[in-house]
Amino acid sequence: MYPDQSSQSAALFERAQAVLPGGNSRHSIAFPPYPVYAVEGGGCHLKDADGNRYIDCINNMSANIHGHRHPAVMEAALRQQEKLVSVGLPTETEITLAELLTQRVPSVDTVRFCNSGTEALMFAARAARAYTGREMIAKIEGGYHGSYDSLDLSNKPTPDVWGDGDRPATVIEDKGITQAIADKTLVLPVNRVEATRALIREHAGSLAAIFVDPLVSRMGFLPLTADYLAMITEEARNHGILIVMDEVFSFRLGPAGAQGRFGVTPDLSTFGKIIGGGYPIGALGGRRDVMDVFNHLPEGKPRVSHSGTFFANPVSMAAGTAALELLDEKMFRHLERIGDLLRDGLKALSEKLDVQGQVMGMGSLVAFMPHAEPYSDYRGFAEGAASAGDAAVMHFQGLLNRGVLPVFPRGFILSTPMSEDTIGQILDAAEATFRYERETRLKPQP
Ligand code: PMP
Repeated sequence: MYPDQSSQSAALFERAQAVLPGGNSRHSIAFPPYPVYAVEGGGCHLKDADGNRYIDCINNMSANIHGHRHPAVMEAALRQQEKLVSVGLPTETEITLAELLTQRVPSVDTVRFCNSGTEALMFAARAARAYTGREMIAKIEGGYHGSYDSLDLSNKPTPDVWGDGDRPATVIEDKGITQAIADKTLVLPVNRVEATRALIREHAGSLAAIFVDPLVSRMGFLPLTADYLAMITEEARNHGILIVMDEVFSFRLGPAGAQGRFGVTPDLSTFGKIIGGGYPIGALGGRRDVMDVFNHLPEGKPRVSHSGTFFANPVSMAAGTAALELLDEKMFRHLERIGDLLRDGLKALSEKLDVQGQVMGMGSLVAFMPHAEPYSDYRGFAEGAASAGDAAVMHFQGLLNRGVLPVFPRGFILSTPMSEDTIGQILDAAEATFRYERETRLKPQP
């Protein structure tokens, strides 16, 4: 049973704390009281250091769309490794993956690769500034775009500092980020159409780009509304502001990613996670004239320099190409079907067993949020989460002990090896967890 201080995972966490501050290298995957340590993965399953087997619903935060060690992805990566792993020259592999991305995503004419989503977002901000000659960028309150200083702001602001609902403060949550940087980031209120329109107009002359991820993972996959996205597009076009679509998490929503699904045509898009088939990757793509800020050919030097030792790493390129080739229409339909099954099942269970919560998500992204009421913006999300108290932690541990590994606390990121049976097993674990909670009266705190 988790937690168990005599487990191997608990011992590893203890050992880790001597050499890694906080015992880990990624805050986004730290959970209390200690994380389970992974040892081996295959298909949609993971084994931990104590030999426990889980249905993996974390899937490395969206990256592992084909689960673990998919034969076609493994084969492509191994074949590449037999030839060349890392090299100080370009390879054909980057052209192939770039061709694939440009064929899939109509707004993407050209692509540049890097190693992470964070880097892709950083280069997007630089490109937008260089292209427009403006310094400010905008993001929505509570939206997450990785660890680049200009975007790693107001990710989870609290009521004491978040300011007016129509004019959110730009909140520094990370002590390493300077005020001078924060002053150049405008924070927009989620789904508040007229308030956001007014803010964009007010800063129109200084804004280089507006960054959006239309299905906000950090808010339990809250969608931006069609009205909101239409307004952003209209204002951006009217004022020469670029739209950057952050597809790092949500590219898995369809063949042309979140932009295809939400009907937005951005100027730039950032990618990561699934496009590397499980290997480290990031990419920035978009309109040829904007992307040409990276083109060193016309003037002998680029307007924005872009370089990294491991950029366009051939193994990541080969694995990513194999992973994307597997994602045909049929595969997306499969992901859609199992996602719907899980959402419908969780909704039915929560009604049958009278468990407080909201079923969220789209496609292969599912969440059961502990909120008493539906929410439509960051503040509703944050207030609802606060009043749900410890409920989320209880659910998380309940699922873990029943062989399901969710994204803390209750997100489910699905993978193609999952079947309808797998969803049945996840729902059985959820039902047992809900029943246990009811019986032991582990109700949300007031
Ligand atoms: N953007 C979004 C929407 C993300 O979800 C993430 C990572 N979870 C990033 C950017 C950053 O990507 P990476 O972790 O590869 O730096």
